Amino acid sequence: MQRRNFLKILGASSLTPGAIDASAAHANHAPNDILVDAVSFADHGGWVVDPQFIEQMGSPYLLAHGMGKPVANASTKITVKKTGTYHAWVRTRNWCPGPWEAPGRFQLAIDGVVNKTIFGTQDGWAWQKGAAVQLSKGVAKLELVDLSGFEGRCDAVFFTENADCIPPTDLKDLGAWRNRQHGGSLRGDIDETHDFDLVIVGGGIAGCGAALAADEQGLKVALIQNRPVLGGNASKEVRVHTLGIHGKVARLLKKIDTKHWPNNSPDAIKDDAKRHASLEAAKNVTLFMDYSVTEVTMDGKSIRSVAARSNTSHRRIRVKGRQFIDCSGDGIVGFKAGATCRYGRESKNEFDEGWDKYGDLWSPDKKDNRVMGTTVMWRSVPSDKASQFPATPWAKDVAKTYAEKKSEWYWEYSANDRHQVDDAEAIRDHMFRAVYGNFSNVKKNPANARLKLEWVAFIAGKRESRRIMGDHLYTMKDVTSLTNFPDTVVEEKREIDVHYQKSLKGYIVDFISKALFMKLRGHYYIPFRSLYSKDVPNLMMAGRCFSCSHIGLGGPRVMLTCGQMGVATGYAAALCKKHGTTPRGIAKNHINELRKLIGFE
Ligand SMILES: Cc1cc2nc3c(=O)[nH]c(=O)nc-3n(C[C@H](O)[C@H](O)[C@H](O)COP(=O)(O)OP(=O)(O)OC[C@H]3O[C@@H](n4cnc5c(N)ncnc54)[C@H](O)[C@@H]3O)c2cc1C
Repeated sequence: MQRRNFLKILGASSLTPGAIDASAAHANHAPNDILVDAVSFADHGGWVVDPQFIEQMGSPYLLAHGMGKPVANASTKITVKKTGTYHAWVRTRNWCPGPWEAPGRFQLAIDGVVNKTIFGTQDGWAWQKGAAVQLSKGVAKLELVDLSGFEGRCDAVFFTENADCIPPTDLKDLGAWRNRQHGGSLRGDIDETHDFDLVIVGGGIAGCGAALAADEQGLKVALIQNRPVLGGNASKEVRVHTLGIHGKVARLLKKIDTKHWPNNSPDAIKDDAKRHASLEAAKNVTLFMDYSVTEVTMDGKSIRSVAARSNTSHRRIRVKGRQFIDCSGDGIVGFKAGATCRYGRESKNEFDEGWDKYGDLWSPDKKDNRVMGTTVMWRSVPSDKASQFPATPWAKDVAKTYAEKKSEWYWEYSANDRHQVDDAEAIRDHMFRAVYGNFSNVKKNPANARLKLEWVAFIAGKRESRRIMGDHLYTMKDVTSLTNFPDTVVEEKREIDVHYQKSLKGYIVDFISKALFMKLRGHYYIPFRSLYSKDVPNLMMAGRCFSCSHIGLGGPRVMLTCGQMGVATGYAAALCKKHGTTPRGIAKNHINELRKLIGFE
């Protein structure tokens, strides 16, 4: 128990190094160089940690998420070994370049003196050079001073006396350089290693369901979640209520589900508390909160371990396991392990999934990269006082004249040429432009003078990205035929719904979608063979990255169905240990035992 608490504290509060010791400098740089990861600042002020795009830009970063009002300064202390003139570099990006003032502007302050350079004005993730600063030997206070409240971002601050030194930009070189700057060569890349029966990656409803089921069976479980909260799209960070049925496992899913509050509601916070209490009470589960899985190590075709990095420091852990369940939504474990994945829409003929009523909007003649999109939820509320909202010229191209007073699930963006994983930051930022530009339009109407933005998500809600292929690929025909399989482990009755961007039919903006519904005559069922990888013997998957076609995902992607998948895989992991076999071995030889555990027989 003490061990678990230690880990929880480690995950939640490793904001530590107040004073950064920069003694272990890169060989090419002077020993007095000082590198500070923004997420390591002792006090984040009003800035938030954003780890969503580590795969693309290399690290978690601090985001000035002020909804149009500059956020409080982030601050930390740095240790200066030698008095001198230092060149300041900041790794940042102008997230919306164009013929306007960059929206996410900020400055550095040292011991209260503001450096004149305005950061956040260069395109792409890059090191932006600031004015030289005079640093005196001893401890200095470093601050990030937000100027706009519109999503400025800072990954790292670097001070060097060497005028010729330019920090690396290539991601691989940058990672190695940072590691060395932080003394990595002394301690190796990994700070600590753990060993579990079962490793679950992703703490959405699928991951939480898997953890509770495996805990009940006495497995030693690691649940690695890259947020400080559990629940994924159901959490207070995205605020979507859980839909679908509880199936045979209501007993477990009621510990982690939500009430039917309206999407966006702060009531999500109460359900987060219930979910956390349930997982905290699961005595065999160790939670690694705020850790992002970034690497997978193989042993032949099987997974030996995953490596994860803290989102609030440069701490890294390795977690070994016998079985792994990918509940990341994006299928990150399967993808990195080399499992066959699919992305986008199948052609209508591949699995006979066409529907004449909606033609190409339902299923295309030729497969394409279109998927259901990403949402950034937001909420406005009436207030006592009239207020203004800043001008947002950088949002106009996206928001146009759109002016809606509240968001809903249909605020959603996808496009054929934008990948929901690889282009995730660009997609989320597109939605920021939609949200802020729309609200700026709303505020132009005097009738809305007292309306204020109360909450805007910065964690994007995703519906669909990679799907990992199993021994069975679940399609529309499995749904419409209502086939009950010999290895059924999940049941559902929700209609199939898939979304398309209304702009495809000429709608004024490109961030609003429409749902197409196909009603069903009864329950449908998901076989266990769709919940383990066909290629990686010790990998299962639960949630929206399960083995299905685009249309096959349309019904079961809701969170209670995903939770049922999680429970089935958690129980299956226990049987793998009991019988010394793989998930495929369970499907072949022990499926009745698994179904009985779930409650099907
Ligand atoms: C706007 C919107 C409205 C929707 N409406 C509904 C609705 O009303 N009801 C409903 O039930 N469903 C709804 N859905 C669908 C549903 O939310 C998703 O399909 C569902 O969340 C899938 O659950 P999951 O557990 O597979 O994934 P997620 O909820 O996405 O959870 C995955 C978790 O894994 C974490 N993770 C990802 N990568 C890593 C990593 N590398 N390391 C560690 N952790 C990682 C993520 O942070 C996340 O918390 C909606 C979706 C959206 C976006």
